[in-house]
Amino acid sequence: MANDKYQQMMYEKIQQQFQDWDSKSFIIERDLYGFLHSLKGTAGSIGMTELSAIAAEKLDVIEAENEQYWDSESWHNFLAPIVEALSFFETNYTSQQSEDVEASQLPMKHQDFIVVIDDDTVFMSYMKNVLEKSGFLVLVANNGERGLKLIYEFNPALVFLDIMLPDTNGFSILENITKIKANQMYVAVMSVNDSRENRKKAYDLGAFDFIAKPIDEEILVSYVHNRLNYKRMLEHSIVTDELTQVYNRKYFDQQMKRCLQNYQYKQEPFTVAMTDLDFFKKVNDTYGHLIGDDVLKGFAGLVMSEKREDDIFCRYGGEEFVMLLPNTNADEAYKEMERLRVLLSQKVFFSEQKKPFNVTYSSGIAQVNADHAHPKKLLELADRALYEAKKTGRNRTVVYTDAQVIEEPKKGIKIIVIDDVYIIRNLIMTGFNQLTVDGDYTVEVAAYSDGLSFLNDAWYDPNYKYILLLDGMMPQMDGIDVLRKVREKYSSNEVIVSMLTGRIGENYVREALENGADDYIVKPFNIADVRLRLMNLVNRLFSKVH
Ligand code: GH3
Ligand code: MG
Ligand code: MG
Repeated sequence: MANDKYQQMMYEKIQQQFQDWDSKSFIIERDLYGFLHSLKGTAGSIGMTELSAIAAEKLDVIEAENEQYWDSESWHNFLAPIVEALSFFETNYTSQQSEDVEASQLPMKHQDFIVVIDDDTVFMSYMKNVLEKSGFLVLVANNGERGLKLIYEFNPALVFLDIMLPDTNGFSILENITKIKANQMYVAVMSVNDSRENRKKAYDLGAFDFIAKPIDEEILVSYVHNRLNYKRMLEHSIVTDELTQVYNRKYFDQQMKRCLQNYQYKQEPFTVAMTDLDFFKKVNDTYGHLIGDDVLKGFAGLVMSEKREDDIFCRYGGEEFVMLLPNTNADEAYKEMERLRVLLSQKVFFSEQKKPFNVTYSSGIAQVNADHAHPKKLLELADRALYEAKKTGRNRTVVYTDAQVIEEPKKGIKIIVIDDVYIIRNLIMTGFNQLTVDGDYTVEVAAYSDGLSFLNDAWYDPNYKYILLLDGMMPQMDGIDVLRKVREKYSSNEVIVSMLTGRIGENYVREALENGADDYIVKPFNIADVRLRLMNLVNRLFSKVH
């Protein structure tokens, strides 16, 4: 029986106490009270129920704060029943103790720490053993100061706190814990003295439970499981997104910090992948928000069942998700996010009318390195790569690299005049060449004498916005024909076309507009007017950029 070990310890402790008192001519009632108080609680818990009952009986007739002296004879008489019980114990005690498994050799089944603060070392080690046998990790303190230190250093899930401590009152520790530790920490006050006042005070000061000593081993273990399960459930719900049941942003932030620590201490790399569903607004608009929600759930479910075990998938907000890939570099992360991307693009979703449809995502990847070992910075870089993925067609994965500087679209304007008349080309070239504009974009000008040479030139650079000044009447290829060719590839978002026309007539203007012209300028024109007009167009282009 495992209790034997504690009974033996208890027995030795009492012997020690008696020897100590025997060396004095008298003892103080307060000390006698403390001794019996501890005996009642501990002896009862470790199976020495008779001893505990005697102690309880004796406690009733003395007082905790009494300074009265007891001489050797009177305390010997008073404690005679205990001496008797002890001698009975001594003669029956077999010194072949059952070999207790060393607690430290037991597998730790639970990650949570439990702290036991009790001045009674026998009771304390008894608690430790009972809990460690059940797989819990237990730290002990036999005074208040060390107890508080353990609490701050180990942030235990559960604290067992005795009220009677040598250096301080357990209640003041309770106050301390609940004041500073705002997060959930379960403190169970344990005491032999389960008076109404003590129980009330414990709860008022934030204790979760009040447990009267002596305790029952099996109930204690059930109690601990019960409280830790509840704590885990609570912690889970705090970091879980309700709709998709994947982790939320709060959890992501915590895990990101952990990865950064591993990077700093162990040089262990990690990668972040920002992921955003493509055209999700359209899904909502076409099929309704409920189906939109189903898509979010379906997407999250797919990733959760397909992702690698260690990768952490979180909903960052709305239809934005983020994957944290520990111990993974950008190349590996790219492969992984591509694998998942393809899986999503193959998944079939259904509308309420059972019409099938598909959804895709774009993803931006950033790997940690010395220059950006910071949560905000890493997310910003992943976000920039995501922006690039969106800009270059969606349903793709882009890796951020320092070499490939992904910038906001360069704010440049190219004005191209296509006219067979030299004077007009020259007027516009010189009129705009030295143009300095407010704002952080540049203006460049180019000229072509006919439509074909323009179309055959590699004139388009996606980093620029274009304004074409297109002559309506040119030999070989008419302005409208050039316009049609341009519009086959580029919309007004990229290329604004203003027709230069000498033909005044509603029909021509209508034909130009129907073929995608944005504007027209009637010849002959005043260059100052044209400049003003084009600057308005430029502003319109840039207000569209974001
Ligand atoms: P893009 O490819 O550029 O990302 O296009 P997008 O339509 O996905 O663009 P945007 O990010 O602007 O739109 C996101 C939409 O997601 C807007 C919002 O109504 C919708 N959304 C956000 N959270 C939820 C949600 O919980 N449920 C549903 N059904 N829709 C949501
Ligand atoms: Mg979005
Ligand atoms: Mg989106």
